[in-house]
Amino acid sequence: MSGTRTERLDRLRLKERVSVLVVGGGINGISTWRELALQGVDAVLVERGDFMSGASAAPSRMIHGGLRYMENGEFTLVRESLRERNRLLTNAPHMVSPLPTLIPLGDRRSGILSAIQRFLGGRPKPGPRGALIVKLGLTLYDLYSGAGKAVPRHRFFGTRELRRRVPALDPALRFGALYYDAKISYPERLGVEMILDTEQASPPALALNHVSFDGLSDGAAILTEKVTGEKISLRPDIVVNATGAWIDITNGLIAKNPAPLIGGTKGSHLIIDNDALRDALGENMVYFANREGRVCIMFVHLGQVLAGSTDISVETPEGVRCEADEADYILASVREVFPGIKIASEEIVFRFAGVRPLPRSNAGVNAEISRDHQCEWLPEQAGSPPVLSLVGGKWTTFRAFGEQAADLVLERLGRRRIVSTQALKIGGGKDFPRDAAERKKWLTDLAALDELTAERVSILFNRYGTRVAAMVADISRQGDEPLASLPAYGRSELSWLAAREHAGTLADLVLRRTAIALKGELSLDAVEEIAGVMAAALGWSEQRRVAEIGALLSHLEDFHGVGRATLEHRNRRQDHVSVEKSAHEPAVRKRQMS
Ligand SMILES: Cc1cc2nc3c(=O)[nH]c(=O)nc-3n(C[C@H](O)[C@H](O)[C@H](O)COP(=O)(O)OP(=O)(O)OC[C@H]3O[C@@H](n4cnc5c(N)ncnc54)[C@H](O)[C@@H]3O)c2cc1C
Repeated sequence: MSGTRTERLDRLRLKERVSVLVVGGGINGISTWRELALQGVDAVLVERGDFMSGASAAPSRMIHGGLRYMENGEFTLVRESLRERNRLLTNAPHMVSPLPTLIPLGDRRSGILSAIQRFLGGRPKPGPRGALIVKLGLTLYDLYSGAGKAVPRHRFFGTRELRRRVPALDPALRFGALYYDAKISYPERLGVEMILDTEQASPPALALNHVSFDGLSDGAAILTEKVTGEKISLRPDIVVNATGAWIDITNGLIAKNPAPLIGGTKGSHLIIDNDALRDALGENMVYFANREGRVCIMFVHLGQVLAGSTDISVETPEGVRCEADEADYILASVREVFPGIKIASEEIVFRFAGVRPLPRSNAGVNAEISRDHQCEWLPEQAGSPPVLSLVGGKWTTFRAFGEQAADLVLERLGRRRIVSTQALKIGGGKDFPRDAAERKKWLTDLAALDELTAERVSILFNRYGTRVAAMVADISRQGDEPLASLPAYGRSELSWLAAREHAGTLADLVLRRTAIALKGELSLDAVEEIAGVMAAALGWSEQRRVAEIGALLSHLEDFHGVGRATLEHRNRRQDHVSVEKSAHEPAVRKRQMS
């Protein structure tokens, strides 16, 4: 096991040398580090913020082949992505599940001319796609995805069936196509679970968040522990640069004028708490091309509606956030599909943005930039370790990308692969019940062992999968007292996450180990109360607790559109009931009743 942060930092200080230093703890850095550590390679992972806090926390939460990428002729990528999607459905069933996806269409023939132009090497402007071109795309998609096995095949229907299924759609939309992809409920957690699994399987492996890589000095990496500012030096044989949209900046810390590799584009999403929109969507994702021809998505995610996204070239990934004009753009796109549904500004409970680390490109339209991934060695410099950069990549393909990068590193180290991750179950997806009956028995057995009701165990299971078995034993010992300000969460539950899952700051806990902030559940009282729980779990001083609250409040206001006034207002909300809680049963606790 990895021990506490203090113990991990001590191990880092004592290390001096390491075979591989992976810089960047997004999904691709974690995946590469996991691959290497599982082969017995001495590997250290450093992330300057929290794990999974960059682009990896900002996806549309689709685990997909990328139907749209077929328009760009990226068939190999689509095939690989669909293979990885199917693997994730099996390896992480606690988080990745099939997503029925509805494409509403206005006519039959649009898009055919553009498709032919593209096929002939042209670059037509994006525009609407008609039923015939979508039918062609979905037939190929089914073929690649093994539809019929992992997920059902696509279907087409006419106006009457479309109206019956989604009455609130714009009447101008006359056809519908339904196909299946997948979605992920807690992407940030999956990355952290991979770290926890790897630490257990390969105890020498070391992963530290809140530690930045600041460059090389005489071949040694200079690292900074962000809480105290302490400098630590480490001599790696190989450096893997997995800093996503920051890759060029990181390479600039290592080499003079390195060739630029990245051309990032910003994408933003809104989380909307609106009953009419939630009801209109039901269990479907609506996947549609807006007036500009840009593909937009919306679906119910953890009880709220997730809608996005934008695709805007940016010079730097620093400080990006969902700006007001982007929010307007997303809302306008939603109105195109559901013109009768009014969304009030206070119903936007959270917003988030990230930068896609796309390969540098001169494509005229951002949507046409390749979503594929590749690895590039920096030209070697005397006295400096070799540096491998991970360029591009989708969330869905992290395993394949990590495997590819690790194989290049293994070759360089003269070592062989001994373990494959293709069928490796992740975190709370291990020993996952195979069907509803098995799940019911699993939950009842667990509840009987510990002093929680089956309902409470079920809520925890939805959040943490089978990891809940370890958590519940602990909760049972400590007592399952709910937060006064947010009863859907327990004090012991949050304390367990803080102590066991590398949470270094208050923001780590409310933004990434849980979805409390994203779901719009956070109030000012909850911030105070959770900070108290975390301070007790991690032994923070009063000064540190207050500083953490201040840092979280600024971050929520600056990057997620959640100001202090909103949080205060949520304190007063009489009917404040957790969306998740209302979707399940009230969490009655045996211990409290006895
Ligand atoms: C709006 C949007 C929607 C998307 N939707 C989807 C989707 O639905 N499905 C899908 O498959 N993909 C999607 N993607 C793509 C996917 O999210 C990204 O490709 C993927 O998360 C990139 O992961 P990464 O690890 O390469 O980069 P990141 O997650 O950005 O990780 C890089 C990390 O490096 C760290 N770092 C930087 N500099 C340093 C340093 N000096 N020292 C230490 N650490 C450092 C950063 O803090 C960051 O955490 C989407 C992306 C965006 C932005």
